[in-house]
This record gives sequence, structure tokens and C-alpha cells, in this order.
Amino acid sequence: MDTLFNDLVTTRKPHKCFGCEIVYPAGTRMRRCVIKDGELFTTYHCPVCNEVSRDWDDGDWLCISAGETRSGDERLWNGIRDKQAADKEPTDA
Ligand SMILES: [Zn+2]
Repeated sequence: MDTLFNDLVTTRKPHKCFGCEIVYPAGTRMRRCVIKDGELFTTYHCPVCNEVSRDWDDGDWLCISAGETRSGDERLWNGIRDKQAADKEPTDA
């Protein structure tokens, strides 16, 4: 299994995140990976799943099943999601 592309894109249409199986709207910054495993396929990963899997080796996350980035450690996933949501809120500073 080879990773042909691995880049950050701003999506132009809704995509389901491979890691959490949530559909994110167009305009989301997502990591796009094109993988060759016999045939080509493309996966999208949301900012939360990117953060969860940041320290993983390539082999780790290539081996997971759809949805497993979140279901593997839902508490961690939810914590990162809440933190990212809070970071996005404007502050009155
Ligand atoms: Zn995700």
C-alpha cells in the first residue's frame, strides 16, 4: 500500500471523513490522501482526526477501518473537537 498524495485541501464539496465518518461541508480544511492498494482510492480526514492521528506512523492509520480514529478513543476525539471549536470562537480580548 503506497500513499501517493497526502496534502491539506479546502474542500469544494462535502466529504465524509474517513476517521470519524462525519460528513463535513464544503470549505473545510481536510487532509486528503490518495492511496494505492491494488487500485487507487482517496480518503479525507477532518481537522479533529488529523490532530488525533498526528503522532501515528503512516502504517498505523493506513491500517484502521473507517470511523476508527474516533471510535478508537472517543473521549480523546471529543476533547480535541471541543478544543478546536473553542479556538474558533471569537474572543473579546
Ligand atoms: Zn474525522
